[in-house]
Amino acid sequence: MLLGALEAGGTKMVCAIGNENGEILEQVSIPTETPEITMPKLLSFFKGKKIEALGIGCFGPIDLNRDSDTYGCITTTPKKAWQYFDIAGTFKRELGVPVGFDTDVNGSVLGEYTWGIGRGLKSCIYITIGTGVGVGVIADGRLLHGMLHPEGGHILLRKLPNDTYKGFCPFHENCLEGLAAGPAIEGRYGKKAVELSDQKEVWEMEAEYIAQALVNYTCVLSPQRIILGGGVMHQTQLLPLIRERFAQLLNGYLKTKELEDLDSFIVLQSLNDKQGIMGALKLGMMELESGI
Ligand code: ADP
Ligand code: ZN
Repeated sequence: MLLGALEAGGTKMVCAIGNENGEILEQVSIPTETPEITMPKLLSFFKGKKIEALGIGCFGPIDLNRDSDTYGCITTTPKKAWQYFDIAGTFKRELGVPVGFDTDVNGSVLGEYTWGIGRGLKSCIYITIGTGVGVGVIADGRLLHGMLHPEGGHILLRKLPNDTYKGFCPFHENCLEGLAAGPAIEGRYGKKAVELSDQKEVWEMEAEYIAQALVNYTCVLSPQRIILGGGVMHQTQLLPLIRERFAQLLNGYLKTKELEDLDSFIVLQSLNDKQGIMGALKLGMMELESGI
């Protein structure tokens, strides 16, 4: 069975054709401009490829409420040209196939849950730390939505007293995204994150904020595993620092077999940065199977 997958991001759109085993047979990347410029390019990639369904993991916020007039739209994004653009509806109309639609990070957690390091679990979460921070959640075998969808990048943290950086989130001075996404590292130190590899204090502060967030997610969502991805996590020194600080902050409060082994509780993505696009394939499959 051929399926289409789209990982719709604020800077690029990754389009792929794959199958029900999560195999990617063809993939291209198209820059995200305006819908007028970008949509025809995306449609021409998918048209004529004989796909039976399309799955979209999308930057947000997005409307996932099937009863809403704006279901399938990107809603209040700062990218003005995409505000209230009906991305899922446009593909459904133009391609004539079922379209599964969810957040980019729900796509990634679904990819890992189906084909990666989340396999066999009932509950796990995926956190991307890149240009922004986002959290996708599988709880009791289902993608978590709720009122809208989790916005785990904007949880409020306790700021370190020696951190004078104001955070780059326009809404919150001390949210995880504003303090710890790639642009925050660059804003705080005036250098690309990748150029700061050998500066211990940079990664200790980064690990502090991520560990605070992971303690919060652990207490609220009770995942069996936490999967980390995104560009910032390419810094290999970060993961051990996060585990160490996580243990200190949780301070022995919870005792489970998962928490006894933090090396397998807090892990890196396992699908070579293909978790998002593979998850989008699965979103397409799920929509096809649901018969909606
Ligand atoms: P996006 O979030 O836009 O999908 P990425 O996950 O690649 O893309 O995140 C890009 C961010 O990650 C940038 O802010 C960049 O500074 C940071 N980044 C990318 N590679 C590295 C690296 N090797 N080390 C540290 N930070 C990185
Ligand atoms: Zn915020």
